[in-house]
Amino acid sequence: MYNAKAFSAASASSPLASTTIARRDPTETDVQIEILFCGICHSDLHQARNEWSGVMPTVYPCVPGHEIVGRVTKTGSAVKKFKTGDVVAVGCMVDSDGTCEECKAGLEQFCHNLTLTYNFPDKHTNGVTYGGYSDSVVVDERFVLRVPDNLDPAGAAPLLCAGITTFSPLHHWGVTKGKKVGVVGLGGLGHMGVKFAHALGAHVVLFTASPNKKDDALRLGADEVVVSRNADEMAKHAGSFDFILDAVSADHDINAYLNLLRRDGNLCLVGAPEKPLAVSAFGLLFGRKSLSGSPIGGIAETQEMLDFCGKNNITSDVEIIPIQKVNDAYERLLKSDVKYRFVIDMASLKGGA
Ligand code: NAP
Ligand code: ZN
Repeated sequence: MYNAKAFSAASASSPLASTTIARRDPTETDVQIEILFCGICHSDLHQARNEWSGVMPTVYPCVPGHEIVGRVTKTGSAVKKFKTGDVVAVGCMVDSDGTCEECKAGLEQFCHNLTLTYNFPDKHTNGVTYGGYSDSVVVDERFVLRVPDNLDPAGAAPLLCAGITTFSPLHHWGVTKGKKVGVVGLGGLGHMGVKFAHALGAHVVLFTASPNKKDDALRLGADEVVVSRNADEMAKHAGSFDFILDAVSADHDINAYLNLLRRDGNLCLVGAPEKPLAVSAFGLLFGRKSLSGSPIGGIAETQEMLDFCGKNNITSDVEIIPIQKVNDAYERLLKSDVKYRFVIDMASLKGGA
């Protein structure tokens, strides 16, 4: 074991603060990574504040962060895919059994023995896993991804969660040219949803509760922008969408979006608000509509998404911050004041914090 610098939350109500954590020395299949950048996902905030206590209660101290880009500093003797100096990435998962039906299908995110990047039982240390708000991390090479050379490393970091979480459902539900697609909420996930749906050729309508984000949404690839509190604007789109991706982090009225689906349309939740959402049965019955959900994506699909981004020059729009500003960034997320992903420059952790 060795000591790594990190930022952690000591309880649901305490701000994140500087700490030291124990990391394992790399085993023969491990890659040790110096973390250069780590995105701030709204899930980090939900988890640090124990807002998902019913599903995955937080174990403290909690070191969040699952949008990691870094440089390889050491590899175990059996590592084949990576060498020292490579720019690599780690997302939301760091281990799975590799033998079950889900893993064999490349759907590690559904493995019953999955290990998430933070706040999950850690088989190596017998504690919990610690995420990317840290100067380094040690990960089995199966869960390490390659970052295309042409992508800016800070802008690439959010692809590891916000990117794959929006890319995967758009693919799974067949979004292509000719489809009318809605994206709800222009935050970290939403802005990547807009970019991907646009790149796939769909007609993209962005729904926002923040009228001041209109111009940005158009610049990011939306064909139309609807301010969701404007009932007339909403009514114009009734019964017209093939697919709507809902990336909202807080309670909101999803029935308003079910109304906008056409027959057999699908509203897919990727947002994970703290409290259950109310659903009107009639909103689904009339029009044989579906309500679905989707978590992150498998490792092969994550690499496919990164390569797609490399080919199409897609990265996240980021605001780079030093780690000492992480608590301010959390407060700004709660005000929807994000353009459109905070990314921590991990060099800021080296100075002693
Ligand atoms: P984010 O950057 O904070 O963006 C959330 C956006 O939701 C806001 O910018 C805002 O967009 C909208 N919003 C916030 N409060 C709202 C309210 N009360 N009513 C209506 N709209 C509201 O968050 P994120 O990182 O994109 O994450 C979004 C959600 O997805 C979180 O719950 C997160 O935990 C979850 N998530 C799920 C997965 C998965 O695997 N499914 C992966 C990552 C994250 P506007 O200003 O445009 O309205
Ligand atoms: Zn995330």
